[in-house]
Amino acid sequence: MTRFSFDLHATDGAARTGTIHTPRGDIRTPAFMPVGTAATVKATLPESVRATGADILLGNTYHLMLRPTAERIDRLGGLHGFMNWDRPILTDSGGFQVMSLADLRKLTERGVTFKSHIDGSRHEITPERSMEIQRLLGSDIVMCFDECPALPADRDRIASSMRLSMRWAARSKDAFGDRPGHALFGIQQGGLEPDLREESAKALVDIGFDGYAVGGLAVGEGQEAMFGVLDYAPAQLPADKPRYLMGVGKPDDIVGAVKRGIDMMDCVLPSRSGRTGQAFTRRGVVNIKNARHADDPRPLDESCSCPACTGYSRAYLHHVFRAGEMISGMLLTWHNLHYFQEIMQGMRDAIAAGRFAAWEADFHATRAEGDIAPL
Ligand SMILES: [Zn+2]
Repeated sequence: MTRFSFDLHATDGAARTGTIHTPRGDIRTPAFMPVGTAATVKATLPESVRATGADILLGNTYHLMLRPTAERIDRLGGLHGFMNWDRPILTDSGGFQVMSLADLRKLTERGVTFKSHIDGSRHEITPERSMEIQRLLGSDIVMCFDECPALPADRDRIASSMRLSMRWAARSKDAFGDRPGHALFGIQQGGLEPDLREESAKALVDIGFDGYAVGGLAVGEGQEAMFGVLDYAPAQLPADKPRYLMGVGKPDDIVGAVKRGIDMMDCVLPSRSGRTGQAFTRRGVVNIKNARHADDPRPLDESCSCPACTGYSRAYLHHVFRAGEMISGMLLTWHNLHYFQEIMQGMRDAIAAGRFAAWEADFHATRAEGDIAPL
């Protein structure tokens, strides 16, 4: 049986390309993980997600524990079979979404109790319970249970929260146990404070994990502050393990993160934007609802090989969005996922060839041109 492992193939500056090996298949890095919140990447069949080039999906512990419940998914054979995706799945710990979605949260040393945002029922997540839920789901990459304060927050709050997360990381590791072929990732915290980030990294490395996430970013601090942390945080984590930036991001966030040494990312943006009529293209964001597209027979992006661009005009995409037809979200989501994966493939190739800087310059120059002129 394949064990979980990570091979680094090439580096270019701080940027890296490699392969994460798992029993359910390889993950090419840098990797973008589409988000399958409720056991589906919204408006997309799993085989379509795979066709865009995704090697791995993310599932949300918080949503799945509430509905349909981890126990039911386990009885039905696990999340892979349940949602018809046989490749790797990473699950988050539930901590971040409890903090952002649940009602009446109560945080103690033991864990978090809260009321479901769906039906008001009471629940508790502890590090031990989070590990149990992620095991019941059958997750390939399990995340430690942590607490993530929204930014800005004062230094004392960031420090005490980070130290609580490090105690929970040790409990997560104990509860995870020895599960060959499955990985447990630690999550670095510490806000925008380099010394707290360093303290967190040391605590995690002492415990020992299969990979490390840079946590506590993309929570309202802005791109400049995020890149400021990424200028030093990845280097505080072991070079021979995957580094995961949680919840990022827009295309330029992703490129900037990879440039700074990040190997994995996830975001709802391609699918969520697809359902609101927003398309990400090489030349920036296109709002398909704008009247300028109503008579435009050209594709969204003439160089894109996705079904939305090869089979349909801007006029059609505009029409089905305006008419509220479901195919609108399906096509734009497919295009957005395809484009995000194309960025990842471009970066992997560029890093392997030692020409990441040239690739990045071209990426920014093409975006700066803006969308094609109206007809
Ligand atoms: Zn396309």
